[in-house]
Amino acid sequence: MKKIFPYIKPQFFAIIMGLTIKFIGTIMDLFLPYILAHIIDDVVPTGNINEVYFWGFVMLIVSAIALIGNIVANRMAAKVARNATRAIRHDLFTKISYLSSSEIDSFTIPSLEARLTSDTYHLHHMIGMMQRMGVRAPILLIGGLIIAFSLEPVLALVLLCLLPFMGYSVWTISRKGVPLYSSLQASVDNMIRAVREHASGIRVIKALSKVEYEKERFDKANRDVVKNEKRAGLTMALTNPVMNIFLNMGLTLVILVGAYRVNAGVSETGKIIAFLSYFTIILNAMMSITRIFVMTSKGSASAKRIGDVLSSPGNLPIMADGPIKTNAHIVFDDVTFSYNKKKDNIKNISFSLKKGETLGIIGATGSGKSTVINLLMRLYDADTGKIYINGESVRSIPHEKLHKMFGTVFQGDVLFADTIRNNIDFGRNLTDGQIESAAKHACAFEFIDALPDKFGHMLTGKGANLSGGQKQRVLLARAFAGGNDILILDDSSSALDYKTDATLRKNIKENYSDTTSIIIAQRISSIRHADLILMLDEGEIIGRGTHDDLMKNCPAYKEIAETQMGGGHFE
Ligand code: ATP
Ligand code: MG
Repeated sequence: MKKIFPYIKPQFFAIIMGLTIKFIGTIMDLFLPYILAHIIDDVVPTGNINEVYFWGFVMLIVSAIALIGNIVANRMAAKVARNATRAIRHDLFTKISYLSSSEIDSFTIPSLEARLTSDTYHLHHMIGMMQRMGVRAPILLIGGLIIAFSLEPVLALVLLCLLPFMGYSVWTISRKGVPLYSSLQASVDNMIRAVREHASGIRVIKALSKVEYEKERFDKANRDVVKNEKRAGLTMALTNPVMNIFLNMGLTLVILVGAYRVNAGVSETGKIIAFLSYFTIILNAMMSITRIFVMTSKGSASAKRIGDVLSSPGNLPIMADGPIKTNAHIVFDDVTFSYNKKKDNIKNISFSLKKGETLGIIGATGSGKSTVINLLMRLYDADTGKIYINGESVRSIPHEKLHKMFGTVFQGDVLFADTIRNNIDFGRNLTDGQIESAAKHACAFEFIDALPDKFGHMLTGKGANLSGGQKQRVLLARAFAGGNDILILDDSSSALDYKTDATLRKNIKENYSDTTSIIIAQRISSIRHADLILMLDEGEIIGRGTHDDLMKNCPAYKEIAETQMGGGHFE
């Protein structure tokens, strides 16, 4: 909650204004039955019809003020809630973009999505509700009690006897019901996860005829949500009937006792009627307080989930690592790293690359190839060992400066629902010339030029309206277009045919000879010309050198080469 308060503070004035108006409106509401009692008991017996009109008119004015006051205050409350939630959503979104990769791993993406959507929604409700009911309900309850006592102390005692029972039932029901809402939220998280996985894997699911299985999985998540919602809803729904029983019992008692009192001449009809109204007002106020209670516990659970993200440190801190003297562009010095800090995912990796050289990394799936570049780009920090670019430790380089050094195609990288031009430009304000030549070097120009709107062609989400190879070419064009110092291609030519792959390598060599490249590939042909090739196995380097060196010294490499060559020669 502490994290959420700053978002409400700037609207302090609007809140105070709204609450004051609400206060006035509520007090007016409280006066109405009192005036009614006055008319029935004091004015009607005098037979002065003009005075009856006068007080009737007063009642009209009072109820108009109450009505308008409540509407205005509720609208102001809604505005405060809207503005606060908008600011929270904005900051949460920004913060999520700055989370470090390990923080994203620990929050998990479906949970971040839920925090950005359903949790901000609960918070919105809570902020609105607190302003609408937070002042009104206590005033109605306390004010109602005070007036009830001053009106008819004996009848008020009837009410007072019932209050502890009502309070107890509300408390017991809420104590059972509120935790049920937490499990409901957890099952909603789960359902979002199922939907997300289904949507991103829909093709594989169809291809492998897993539709039935997936349907079953979603049904289960869906049933869980329904079950939890039903339990929470049924429990909380007890409140209304229970309160109604008390209300009706109370009303009967009040009428009974009231009737005796009126008969005995110690009370008046008007007072009894007014008392009945206050009785209803007080009970409704109690029910509102229960609702506030439920809403607050839901809202504060959400506020905590949002606060956790907002107070997460975010980007890895800049460290004061000293530079080293070297003429190499990239240096890995005995780097070891583990994602979960249990089993090392890469171990004792050392290599150095001069400017303009090419490093090829090959190895089985899960051998740590992508991890090497994750560390170079400082998406994670190495556990031991150091990484240097131009002699500066990556931990000492400001994030923006560091990220500008790279043109990257990540493994399974995505395109956005935007034009091809904007997907290549990626907000860097590149010129048409730069974009066109990048597309040419990435072997993408031909197919883009054949499209009716060329670079203005709209892609659908994740580039779903392109073929796998076309997607990779656009991604490659994006990586080339910035003219960065270091080019990283992680498994980015797997969907290209051998001939295009060869042309691509030629283009890189001719046009980006100053660029240091790191190429991760499954195909030997994609990396065989590299100045240095590392063969990884379970996070360790099991072979290093040029293609020829490895063919001689690394049996694992030789075996892959022979299977892929099929006894023939490359290219
Ligand atoms: P591939 O050829 O399939 O892309 P890779 O060589 O690139 O494989 P890495 O992605 O570097 O493999 O993964 C190395 C190991 O680290 C794997 O065992 C993987 O399970 C683990 N790993 C990768 N990313 C994470 C992560 N975010 N959290 C935890 N473990 C991870
Ligand atoms: Mg990988």
